[in-house]
Amino acid sequence: MVATLEGSRTNASPQRPLLGRNQTELTEWVKHQGQPAYRGKQLHQWIYDKGVRSLTDITVFPKAWRQDMAEVSVGRSEIHHRSIAADQTAKFLLRLDDGQIIETVGMPTEKRLTVCVSSQVGCPMACDFCATGKGGFIRNLAVHEIVDQVLTVQTAFDQRVSNIVFMGMGEPLINVQNVVSAVRCLNQDIGIGQRSITISTVGIPGKIRRLAQHQLQVTLAVSLHASNQALRTQLIPSAQQYPLADLLDECREYVAVTGRRVTFEYILLSGLNDCEEHAGELAQLLRGFQSHVNLIPYNPIDEVDYQRPSRKRVNQFTDHLKASGIAVSVRYSRGLEKDAACGQLRASKVEI
Ligand code: SAH
Repeated sequence: MVATLEGSRTNASPQRPLLGRNQTELTEWVKHQGQPAYRGKQLHQWIYDKGVRSLTDITVFPKAWRQDMAEVSVGRSEIHHRSIAADQTAKFLLRLDDGQIIETVGMPTEKRLTVCVSSQVGCPMACDFCATGKGGFIRNLAVHEIVDQVLTVQTAFDQRVSNIVFMGMGEPLINVQNVVSAVRCLNQDIGIGQRSITISTVGIPGKIRRLAQHQLQVTLAVSLHASNQALRTQLIPSAQQYPLADLLDECREYVAVTGRRVTFEYILLSGLNDCEEHAGELAQLLRGFQSHVNLIPYNPIDEVDYQRPSRKRVNQFTDHLKASGIAVSVRYSRGLEKDAACGQLRASKVEI
């Protein structure tokens, strides 16, 4: 069953960029170019460890061959713009081969470097509180376009990336095939532990089950944001076709199949979903569920007038959940003044 799933990286088509291929595939490629097999390992190392953008920069390769290979695309995107917030959060605008722009965010702490990656250009989900959805949907990202984001941040910070969150632009489970292939590459070729990778989804019917079948050890984060179906539908249009009970059933299956607990993300919108009654309803909904709730005080966007609750209100909500035996944490978003926080990513707002 698992062998038939999307995301296996065999049968590489010759047109595929080099980035995203594993060492075996790269070795096949160099042999095809008439080079000895050991150059495959070198190529792998220079692409993933050293982050070269062009084969001409691989100084261990013979000069003549490097020149012959000058036109071969490694598959790196161009850095179009970079801005850094006071908390050192760095936002990158990357230009893809077809001219589309995506956003990637690097978030350093003392011990970690986390990358918030995009999985699509734009997003079709149109959640009311999210800037990305306001700009519509263009296309899925290819595997190399996802992996490139991580290498870009790693090189810019000159530090190994420790964690990855699929919380940038897009809905990863609509692009599940490329996301799973990218996860395998990030894990096997760059060496990032699967447990340090989080895939965040608003929930697409059948896709959480599908992801579970891949038996990855990644963390699944589900954007719940409401304690009942009516409220959820008001905030997330796609929830209309996906009852809360069905979503939670698929999440339970994910826990059963992978043995990993699920994270539930819950944006706190003042006066809308942050009252005592909502905390109580949420606790009831998740009672006995192997899960963790991540509360995200709303980050403002221009188009809508939701309000971020006060710290006091956030603490009250948190305490209510804790008292009900729910594991909970609060995510105070980073990079706010650079429009780099959760839900603020959009390609159209290019400030140069
Ligand atoms: N489509 C995926 C991943 C991208 S969004 C998903 O929905 O999960 C990553 C997280 O940021 C999600 O939990 C999303 O709901 C949240 N988010 C979106 N807009 C936000 C905003 N304005 N303030 C705070 N969090 C937001």
